Amino acid sequence: MARICLDAGHSGHPDPGAINELTGLQEADVTLDVAYLMQKYLASVGYEVMLTRILRKQLETNDLAYRTELSNNWKAHVFVSLHCNSADNPVARGYEIWTLPWRTGGDELATCLFNRISQEYPDLTGRADYVNGDPERRNKFYVLTHTEAPACLVEMAFISNPLEAKWLADPAWLSRMAWAISLGIVDYFGEMS
Ligand SMILES: [Zn+2]
Repeated sequence: MARICLDAGHSGHPDPGAINELTGLQEADVTLDVAYLMQKYLASVGYEVMLTRILRKQLETNDLAYRTELSNNWKAHVFVSLHCNSADNPVARGYEIWTLPWRTGGDELATCLFNRISQEYPDLTGRADYVNGDPERRNKFYVLTHTEAPACLVEMAFISNPLEAKWLADPAWLSRMAWAISLGIVDYFGEMS
């Protein structure tokens, strides 16, 4: 049975991740909500799912090695890290799927996730393999570099964008996003078999 490791980005405390300045919405809460939804969907179709963080505030998850070791020790078949994007410019928008800049098993996975997210949200802009000066980049690369399973990282939307922050606070929108990413994982295993 395929094993899926879901990584809800940030630890809640001391690291809430990005925060929407107006509403106080925290990235760490959004990523945990989506991880739990995905766990439910993927378990219902027969996958084994492990979350690297299970609590709103979980101090030890601030150590990224704690997360990647969980995945590696469990011998996960895929690793997906969930995040929300943030930028100084409030109009920055859309989703991004990150893989390492060199070719890895995460590339096929990223393509599957990208296809399902763009199908679910045809009006949103999305980019795969997006490399820029994002300050989070080093952390992103850590969870991708230190996992043995094919891995990628999803930036679901910009928490700093007023409209997208509204979506990220909407359980129905999060549920669609969780469903789309889950279907992408199912597609990945379909293509690998
Ligand atoms: Zn993040």
